[in-house]
Amino acid sequence: MTDSKKMYINGEWIEAESGETLEITNPANGEVVGTISYGDARDANKAIAAAHEAFKSWSQAAARERSKYLYNLYELVRKNRDELAGLISAEMGKPLGEAKFEVLGAADNFMWYAEEAKRVYGETVPSSTPNKRLMVMKQPVGVVAAITPWNFPVNMVARKIAPALAVGCTVVLKPAEKAPLSTIRMFELIEEAGFPKGVANLVTGDASSIGKEIVDNPKVAKITFTGSTRVGKLLMEGAAAQVKRISMELGGHAPFIVFEDADLDAAVKGLFESKYRNAGQMCICTNRLYVHESIVEAFTAKLVERLQNTKVGDGRVKGVEIGPLVDEAALTSVLGQIEDAKEKGGGIAFGGNRLTEGEYNKGFFIEPTVITDVTPEMNIYSQETFGPVVPIIPFQDEASVLEMANDSIYGLAAYVYTQNNARCFRMAEGLEYGIVGVNDGSPTQTQAPFGGYKQSGIGREGGHYALDGFLETKFVSFGV
Ligand code: ADP
Repeated sequence: MTDSKKMYINGEWIEAESGETLEITNPANGEVVGTISYGDARDANKAIAAAHEAFKSWSQAAARERSKYLYNLYELVRKNRDELAGLISAEMGKPLGEAKFEVLGAADNFMWYAEEAKRVYGETVPSSTPNKRLMVMKQPVGVVAAITPWNFPVNMVARKIAPALAVGCTVVLKPAEKAPLSTIRMFELIEEAGFPKGVANLVTGDASSIGKEIVDNPKVAKITFTGSTRVGKLLMEGAAAQVKRISMELGGHAPFIVFEDADLDAAVKGLFESKYRNAGQMCICTNRLYVHESIVEAFTAKLVERLQNTKVGDGRVKGVEIGPLVDEAALTSVLGQIEDAKEKGGGIAFGGNRLTEGEYNKGFFIEPTVITDVTPEMNIYSQETFGPVVPIIPFQDEASVLEMANDSIYGLAAYVYTQNNARCFRMAEGLEYGIVGVNDGSPTQTQAPFGGYKQSGIGREGGHYALDGFLETKFVSFGV
């Protein structure tokens, strides 16, 4: 049994008030990989109080000073890349190569916002009368509560706390209970980077109890959340009572559209990245694959060939491209979508089953799957899958595929493959999505905005766009 990991509150590592702990298991084999403190509202309350106290000096510190700590953290995260990646892979199953890439992405965020910290500019505005001077200043919003999911347990944390800390906010972070170990390790690095006590706090444990304290405690000015649309709506409702600021990155249902003039090899590569990376457990994952009717057969054959050459297994084993799903509930839900599609007339071009033999017998593994003969009645057509399963839907023309692609309550990411320039622009403009990959299956970068239309969320992370979410705009009018 490993030692139980504590929470980081006001610069100290402390046990949960409840005295309870929670074991974290590896979804590839069921082994216990760590134990965490199972905190609740009482611990969240302490963390919020610490962040509130620390805000007084952190918000007043010179931007270059805040930048220095973020830069230290950038270096530490890079230095500890392999250890952090190993923890990610062990606690939630993703292939080690993807986990290393994730950690470098997190480091890049700390670097980016170490730089942005120095560039939070205000403005002067010409007055309508000669006896006034108008000034606009940006100020940090206050204590930020950040709630993160398990699918990117290091980079999601970085994407939220780096811009918040950069502009002078203090933070209380609650990671997902399914994958908190890599986040805890990152908070050890936050301590090592020298941030003053109370500036960044970590509370692990009971999501609804901690969430309620975050919503109810008036010292929390802003809630930033990434996770399901269901929980996002709950938090929005709660936040409304005190008109708290919110940023939400919620579910998605990305269409991936392949036109008849597309480079099919590039499209298969892009589809693989956007559908099968992280075992299909990303909010920007392809969920509906629209292929022009004239190339459906050729495209499906190429896709199936790619999947035949894809190794599923423990993410820590070399050569594995698809790890296990995060837990049994995830597996049941994905298998349920496959069964539902089959019952409603869907065909299986590849995969379709849980893997249980030999190396797979203790994990939550599923074959990468391709479904054909898809109809709008099938759950997979409109519900988020969060697994390595793709439904292929043939289409006839640009206007009808655009209409089908936009017919969703979600609006996070969309993908288009075509070599026709004018069509690239028509589609990029017509798709009601916050992120559009045109001949690009992996369109996210640190400096680019990330966020969704419709029920996929509110606000944007990434680049300078993220800063606005942690700033208030103050107008000062000087009579002279
Ligand atoms: P997923 O289905 O991806 O696990 P969730 O929305 O359930 O998505 O989880 C995302 C994050 O939200 C996790 O950190 C989880 O612990 C947290 N969470 C779940 N329920 C609540 C809640 N009632 N209040 C606040 N946070 C919650």
